Amino acid sequence: MKKAIAVLGSTGSIGVQSLDVAEKSDYSVEAVTAHRDFKRLEEQIRKFKPKYAALSDIAAAAELKLRVKDTSTKVFSGVEGICMCAAETDADTVIDSIVGLAGLRPALAVLESGKTLALANKEALVAGGHLVLDAAKKTGKEILPVDSEHSAIFQCLQGKPSNKALKKIILTASGGPFFGKTRQELKNVTAADALKHPTWDMGAKITIDSASMFNKGLELIEAHFLFGVAPENIDVLVHRESIIHSMVMYDDNSVIAQLGLSDMRIPIQYALTYPERYPSPVGELDLSEIGKLTFYKPDYEVFDCLNICREAITKGGLYPAAVNSANEEANRLFREGKIGFPDLGRLIRTAFDVTPDKKDFTLDDIYETDKAARQAVNNSII
Ligand code: MN
Repeated sequence: MKKAIAVLGSTGSIGVQSLDVAEKSDYSVEAVTAHRDFKRLEEQIRKFKPKYAALSDIAAAAELKLRVKDTSTKVFSGVEGICMCAAETDADTVIDSIVGLAGLRPALAVLESGKTLALANKEALVAGGHLVLDAAKKTGKEILPVDSEHSAIFQCLQGKPSNKALKKIILTASGGPFFGKTRQELKNVTAADALKHPTWDMGAKITIDSASMFNKGLELIEAHFLFGVAPENIDVLVHRESIIHSMVMYDDNSVIAQLGLSDMRIPIQYALTYPERYPSPVGELDLSEIGKLTFYKPDYEVFDCLNICREAITKGGLYPAAVNSANEEANRLFREGKIGFPDLGRLIRTAFDVTPDKKDFTLDDIYETDKAARQAVNNSII
């Protein structure tokens, strides 16, 4: 049977690559959604002929509706529209590649409607935590990781997300464009400098997160929730070549790693075809051509965002949501040239002081935390 998928956040980097994989695998695309890029969404609608489409921006959705009125695609708007696409689509697997906390409600909508969630949006799991896991448990549906590191860990665990003999996870990190730099050297770097990322082809927000290593912090939290491993048993290892996408160590100290070229289409495709493996559009890995693989301990002083995330998940409750929202705000301010690179960690840290310490929380608590954390960041700009 032909597999049917839906792509939330289809105009972003992961979304476009997901559609590329779907096209090559001859999957049907049942729904596409984006924030406000109606031009690109129109192209995707004409090409893939999905039943549903949505834009979270109301005005952009109205424009899209006019543009595609000759097609049979139904256009929805707002967050509700995105969630509607997530829930009502006939897709077996829905990819959530929305950027930021905005991906949380759609992720819940996918799981609550009993579909498999291919998760590329790490913020949903970081902020939503047990809410997302509970939703998956209720319908017995899987969350398949799209993030390359988590796909690697998932593969090293041979598809069994909870393996009793698992001792630790070794999360690899490229180190980003500022690897080896001192705080002093990073005082005057700009977003443009950070966007010259050496290995992966990514969107603007995640590229800055990668430069500050907040991205690795998010991934640590994501790994904790996906694989049920305590934060102290998740190590971060800088691996400049991005060939090993992560590793696991078992109780007998045997280490299993997953390797491949750094191309997101491999993990995207695996999430879509799982448990099958199909031929890939990505080339073969030739280790003799790469020659050597290097490894370093992260510099926790320069990349203080890593420890912020570790602290947040160790405290638990709403703290991961708080630092995630504070980072979304700080990340945006840095991209707009309003704060310096070394300010990121200091500003994100302010979120700890405005977050209530409670273990059990609701969706409303997350949005309140979001507001307070963003405000704390803006109040602390010097
Ligand atoms: Mn990643």
